[in-house]
Amino acid sequence: MWRIDRPDSLNITGNNPVAKELSTYSEIMLNTRLSRSKVARMIEVDKNEDMWVEHENIMKKFNENYNKLVLTNLKKPDFSYLDLKIKITEKIFENCYFCERRCYINRNVDMGVCNISRPKIASEFMHMGEEAPLVPSHTIFFAGCNFECIYCQNWDISQSANRGMEIEERKMAKIIDLRRKEGSRNVNFVGGDPTPNLLYILKTMNLSKENIPVVWNSNFYMSEDAMKVLDGFIDLYLSDFKYGPSDCAQRLSGVSDYWNIVTRNHKMAKEAGDMIIRHLVLPNHVECCSKPILKWIKANLGKNTVVNIMGQYRPVYKAAECKEIATHPDPEEIEEAINYAKGIGLISLI
Ligand code: SF4
Repeated sequence: MWRIDRPDSLNITGNNPVAKELSTYSEIMLNTRLSRSKVARMIEVDKNEDMWVEHENIMKKFNENYNKLVLTNLKKPDFSYLDLKIKITEKIFENCYFCERRCYINRNVDMGVCNISRPKIASEFMHMGEEAPLVPSHTIFFAGCNFECIYCQNWDISQSANRGMEIEERKMAKIIDLRRKEGSRNVNFVGGDPTPNLLYILKTMNLSKENIPVVWNSNFYMSEDAMKVLDGFIDLYLSDFKYGPSDCAQRLSGVSDYWNIVTRNHKMAKEAGDMIIRHLVLPNHVECCSKPILKWIKANLGKNTVVNIMGQYRPVYKAAECKEIATHPDPEEIEEAINYAKGIGLISLI
């Protein structure tokens, strides 16, 4: 049925620029290559070493060898690279800096800016509306977010961390495996944002048995250490690059130092996996946000970067409080952003 709904989704192999850029993702999706999380589960590490020292060592070797990896011993070791990532993440959870809000609170007993303690799942389903190379995408929406975007398009779940149900990791892993058998091309962690739920995601994928690409669908406000944990775990980074180097991030999402953090993380992600960068065109933000973002992508990540310029902005949630975004973008603005991306040579999905 999904082939009828989204015939464009078939075009992910062969000699086209998108397929070339997403070739590793496609191989995992087609089951001709193991996902990074599966490989991380099979690499033995020394549990007595300093955690970060051991992680840095393995991370370097992992990245040098993932593309030419031949796994001879497919047995899960007593303590794996993925177990090490979980142990590191448990430690951070007790003094949380998963994201650059850096609340430094013990999430076992307290809540930070995101208001998330135990992850709550708002919904999970086979998403047919994601980018063509991803669908059908088994999308898992977490309730709650570390951003407070006044125009959030998903505000009903992102701004209420309790608007979902707890599903324990073992059960979620089974659901992911079942969806894979039903034809999902990937498991896609989103929200809100997946970052506050990093520990849950790692534990869940450690229990999943199927080989499946893991997609990190995020605002990219992760801390540098969280980025290191994701390296060797995530197969495709699906970023939501919102703002240029202006005060827009602070005014509209309530976050500081956005540009430095998000550009750093895009550079790290580009080294660590395949990538699609989303950009939602906001009304009256083409000059301050859309164009500087696209220009930066080309200069720093290369023109062979896949971007999805999105034109579906609606003035919802508290958008009416801010005149410049209390409207729909003009079709000319959307066209201008798309033409700009194409004009500088980026690979545009639109
Ligand atoms: S995930 Fe971010 S916002 Fe939430 S508690 Fe941790 S540092 Fe704070």
